[in-house]
Amino acid sequence: MAALASLYSEFVMPTYGRFELDIARGAGCRVWDFDGKQYLDFGAGIAVCSLGHAHPEITEAASKQASILVHTSNLYRTSPQAELARRLVGLVGPGKVFFCNSGAEANEGLIKLTRKFGSASGRYEILTFQNSFHGRTMAGISATAQEKIKKGFAPLLDGFVHLPFQDLDAVSAAIGPRTAAVLVEPVQGEGGIHVASADFLAGLRLLCDRHDLLLLFDEIQCGLGRTGEWCGWKSVASSVMPDGVSWAKGIANGFPLGAFWASSSRGLCDLLGPGTHGTTYGGNPVCCAAAAKVLDIIQRDRLCENAVLQGGRLRDGLVGLKSPRIREVRGIGLMIGFEFAEETGVNVAIPFAKKLMTHGLLAIPAGERVIRLLPPLNVTAAEVDEALEKIGRLLSAA
Ligand code: PLP
Repeated sequence: MAALASLYSEFVMPTYGRFELDIARGAGCRVWDFDGKQYLDFGAGIAVCSLGHAHPEITEAASKQASILVHTSNLYRTSPQAELARRLVGLVGPGKVFFCNSGAEANEGLIKLTRKFGSASGRYEILTFQNSFHGRTMAGISATAQEKIKKGFAPLLDGFVHLPFQDLDAVSAAIGPRTAAVLVEPVQGEGGIHVASADFLAGLRLLCDRHDLLLLFDEIQCGLGRTGEWCGWKSVASSVMPDGVSWAKGIANGFPLGAFWASSSRGLCDLLGPGTHGTTYGGNPVCCAAAAKVLDIIQRDRLCENAVLQGGRLRDGLVGLKSPRIREVRGIGLMIGFEFAEETGVNVAIPFAKKLMTHGLLAIPAGERVIRLLPPLNVTAAEVDEALEKIGRLLSAA
């Protein structure tokens, strides 16, 4: 669609390195372009469409709510927001939820919570980790330990210290009189699919307890079923309890919604009182109704179990390709990445993803050398095998 490309180039800011694909429609694990060409979608809108595209029950839940009440602002109460908050608290533990519209905003909320928490004792510093990604707002890029996303935006928000991932000694050494929290992705997504170890997460909990710090989990990409558990970190360290959790992406299958949870311990969930934080759209009834239906379907259709099953099939299948081009297959549940062996210093992931696209498979590059596979949680064995066949064919051709 040349017309679409020219409208974009004339009227839409060039902030994204887009693929040459104009998507006309989607259904389940597939999307179609305007010429009717079909693609198997193992990106799912970057881990967003957890139930696949145009899921009829989500469409119905959102349409029904849209016919009743679309928006009220947060000056008033609505039942979809209250009900979703109750459900999310039930998934994590005693506490309360704040609703927003995106992942970056959910982390922004955790950062503000930390500032409030530390304000009486003059503490505000948050420890984050190399290869992390926490969003594109100013606080998000300040928290993120990837230089490329900070470039040109100085001065950044003060108070973030970036440390090596999985290195408890480095965390211990970095804790000082200003430290207030540790923010970590239990499974790093944008950074190339790196799974935190059980010892690392448990060690962070111990250090946070010892120094009265908040342990904050960014579950925006890895949460709500993707790793095979409602709480992504439980796939790794089931007994660890965080003080705060952020969600977005898969929460509403594509309707824009983000949220963060704060624990009731130490009164954290009531720290942000009236007037301290807010957003006009957050917790919008339509998005909340869609999200509640997402949770219902994941539960009813046992999709956490399917994520483990199909994730295992995908992982084993990638290893079984025995391609000399693949250095490592990483991940957990349906958050899988494979890293290329080439150490060329040039980006090999983007050209590979482009070629995969021409073979009818959508996958997401992460960094220069990793391809991420994040299919819907209801992906079938046949779809996994189809993706493996396309990847295998391309690896042996290249
Ligand atoms: N945190 C993590 C772990 C993410 O993967 C992302 C997005 O990729 C974000 C935060 C930012 O979310 P959003 O793009 O919805 O602002």
